[in-house]
This record gives sequence, C-alpha cells and structure tokens, in this order.
Amino acid sequence: MHYVSTRAEPTAAAQAPEAFSDILLGGLAPDGGLYLPAEYPQVSGAELDAWRKLSYADLAFAILSKFATDIPAADLKALCKKTYTADVYRNTRAGEAAKEITPLRVLEQDGDKTLILQALSNGPTLAFKDMAMQLLGNLFEYALSKNNAELNIFGATSGDTGSAAEYAMRGKKGIRVFMLSPHKKMSAFQSAQMFSLQDPNIFNIAVDGVFDDCQDMVKAVSNDLGYKAAQKIGTVNSINWARVVAQVVYYFRGYLGATTENSQKVSFTVPSGNFGNICAGHIARMMGLPIDKLVAATNENDVLDEFFRTGVYRVRKSSETYHTSSPSMDISKASNFERFVYDLVGRDAKRVRALFNKVETAGGFDLSGKPGSDGDEFKLVAGYGFLSGKSTHKDRLDTIRDVQDDFDITIDTHTADGIKVAREHMAPGVPMIVLETALAAKFNETILDALGVDAERPAGFEDIESLPQKFVVMTTDVAKMKAYIAANTGL
Ligand SMILES: *Cc1c(COP(=O)(O)O)cnc(C)c1O
Repeated sequence: MHYVSTRAEPTAAAQAPEAFSDILLGGLAPDGGLYLPAEYPQVSGAELDAWRKLSYADLAFAILSKFATDIPAADLKALCKKTYTADVYRNTRAGEAAKEITPLRVLEQDGDKTLILQALSNGPTLAFKDMAMQLLGNLFEYALSKNNAELNIFGATSGDTGSAAEYAMRGKKGIRVFMLSPHKKMSAFQSAQMFSLQDPNIFNIAVDGVFDDCQDMVKAVSNDLGYKAAQKIGTVNSINWARVVAQVVYYFRGYLGATTENSQKVSFTVPSGNFGNICAGHIARMMGLPIDKLVAATNENDVLDEFFRTGVYRVRKSSETYHTSSPSMDISKASNFERFVYDLVGRDAKRVRALFNKVETAGGFDLSGKPGSDGDEFKLVAGYGFLSGKSTHKDRLDTIRDVQDDFDITIDTHTADGIKVAREHMAPGVPMIVLETALAAKFNETILDALGVDAERPAGFEDIESLPQKFVVMTTDVAKMKAYIAANTGL
C-alpha cells in the first residue's frame, strides 16, 4: 500500500509514492497536499462476516494491516492489542461494557426507524480524539525506537486536541510534548486535565493571550526550518493520516454491531469541524462498508453544511468564526476536506491544486455548476452518500433536555448537534448511528444551563481540579519560547 499527495506535482520525483511509515510522523505532504492511499483497499463480504466476531483490537489490526503494509504483522497486532483495552477505554456509562471499546446504545426504535448512539468517548480524556491518538502514541514510540530517533511535538490547543495528545504521549520513550494553551481561557476541567499531568516528557505552556496567539507562535516556530530540524519538531494535528485511518475502525465496528448480515445498510451522523472524523467514514464507505448516508452535523460554524447544501466551499474570516457551546467544532476551514475533494474531482491532483489555490487567493471555490463556478462536481456528491445539517446553541440545549427526558442519559454539546441533525435525516429501515464525540462532563457549563444540574463525572475525575498542576506561563515572545523548548530538549 502506497500513499500519494492530493496535490502531487506531475514530476516523477514528487509523485514517488510513499509507504505508511514514511508519512506516519508527518503532516502535510511537501507539496502542501494531504496523503491518501493510492487506491482504497476493498473489503469482501466474507471478510465482513469473519469480522463480526472480532474484538475491537483484532478488528483494528485487520483493517490497519490493509493500510500499514510496511509494519510487520506481529508488531502491528501487538500495537493494536496494547491500545484498545478495557483499561484504556474504561470511562463507560452504566450499562456499557468497557471491553466493547465503542459500545452502541439504541436510543429509539420507532417502527422501522432506529436511532443509535455509538460511544467514542470512553478513553482517558473523555473525547473521541483518544480513539486515534492513543494508537498514534504507540505507533510513534514504535517507529522512533526502530530508528533510535526522537520527536518533539509542538502544538497549540484550546482544549480537546492538546489533552488527547498529552495523554497519548505521556511516558513514551523518545517523545516530548510542548503544548501551548491560552492562559486562563480553558474551562477549569480542561486545564486540570492537562496541567495535572506530572510526566517529565509533558510541557504545558500557558500563553498570556488567546488561542490565535498560540497558533501564531506555532506557525512562527514551524516556519523556522533550521530550528525545526535541529529541535526535531513535529505535530499531531488532525490531518495526520494515521489519525484518520485509526478512525476508520469504529465505523466498521458500529456497522457490525448494528446489523446481523451484510445486505443491511446503516447511516452515520458525525459532529463535524475539521472533517477528520467523517473523512474516516468516507474511507470506510469507499472500502465497501455498506454505509447509506454520511451526515455531517455542524454548529453555527457551518462551512461544511454550506458546501453539502450548495456546492460552495467558503472559508470564514476570524471575525465570522463563532465561539460556540460546542467549541471543538469552532473552525473557519475544514482541514481534511481536501481529501474528499480529491475523490470528488476524480483524483485529479491538478484540479485539487487549482481549487485550493483559489481557497488561498479568493477564500473558497464553487462546484455548483452555475455560470461562472469552478466546476459542476457538486452533482456527484450525493453518490458519495453525503448529507448535512446545522445546529445552534438553542438546538443544543433543547436536544440535551429531550435526550435526558426521553432516554435518561446526558449527552455533551457536540453529540447534541449530531442528534439534532440525525433526526432530520432518518430513513425507514436504515439504522442511524450518531457518533458520540465527548462525554458531557467536559462541557458542564452548558449542561448546567440545559438541565440545571451538573453532568455526572466518571470515577476518578471527581476532584481533578484540586490535583497539583504543572505548567509554565509565558508571553507571546517567540524567541523566549524557542529558548525554552531548546533548554528542555537538550538538543
Ligand atoms: C475534535 C472534535 C470534533 C470535530 O471532529 P473533526 O474530526 O474535526 O470533524 C467534534 N466533537 C468533539 C468533542 C471533538 O473533540
């Protein structure tokens, strides 16, 4: 299995396909594109049948071995077994079995309409990013130790990504994490989750500023190529291919859990921001998993909903990007969307380059086929199963209340966006699976607003705010930041 860039230049050198391990530790391809497999591996009916009986870890191995063909099978299997354990994914609700890793719960069965919740947030940081990031931690450690190499992960977070990365990389040999966050701008729970980590390889840096200041500092450091190489700086952002492919597994698990035979279809609704999670659903569908619809649910930041309704992709200015009560979907552009566009335009890298150049120069592109548009591929979107919808703060509160009243479970704000939109796209005879992307305890402020009571916390998180915290406070001075990193890497 080899990987190509969505923007591959038509020269032999740039087109040279790469192996899984070559792209594992990186982000963007050198030409600015994103990596995808040269072709999608296909899954047969016989394989699907056999997979029905597998544990999550064994299913992960079966799927990942189609993509990571350059990692010896025994090693990959051991990495999957080490990652997907009931001990790592233990933050279950009453009635859920931790050994299932991503348990399904039927919320509603009304005639031939079925609404199912698939829990993806039972990992250490109570959000779905653990599903992929925990594997990434083990894959990184494995790859680095093989080459006797080290990696210093440098990033900025406003919440979920940073904590998922830290919990995945803590204690890993050859890896350090330097994570910037806006000082005193995260919720008490989120800061406590990150800052209470005492591992010597985790460095929390609270920056006097807002999240954009943190991101600007990451860019400034990343643009200094000499420093970046000397300090062995890397990232773990959502465009990392290994993160996307690890997420493919739970679409298979969800399908297999909701069906008894392969003639049945299911649909998925996915709370979406950067298009990372739902991109994995697209890949599962392209591999032959019988998915009917893939529904992208956005919040007020509706870049994706706009595209799937109109064919117009329009990134937002920061002044048009809203801070919402489902903050992990507050995006101005959808970083992984280019992967789907590549397939949509028939894997024509030249088209992709032109379209995403236009994003840089004109803020977007239009595939509606209307006079003056950039193409007419919007008419092909339905063939890929995509639908969408949007949810607002009021919808979120109403949905949290409804789900509490009707099914006696508390859902988080992102999952509420998913359920709100899923209900608009239910079809007879096709179970709708909503991916639960976080547990309610992480976004308690809004739960209190909606229900008047606190969200229940999983065991072990009761007093997290009172644990000792380890972090440094810094200004937005890039030179000082660089010196701090260098002092701690010793490189
Ligand atoms: C990151 C995140 C999302 C959005 O996922 P994308 O892959 O960016 O679409 C949704 N919900 C929660 C809780 C998240 O942390």
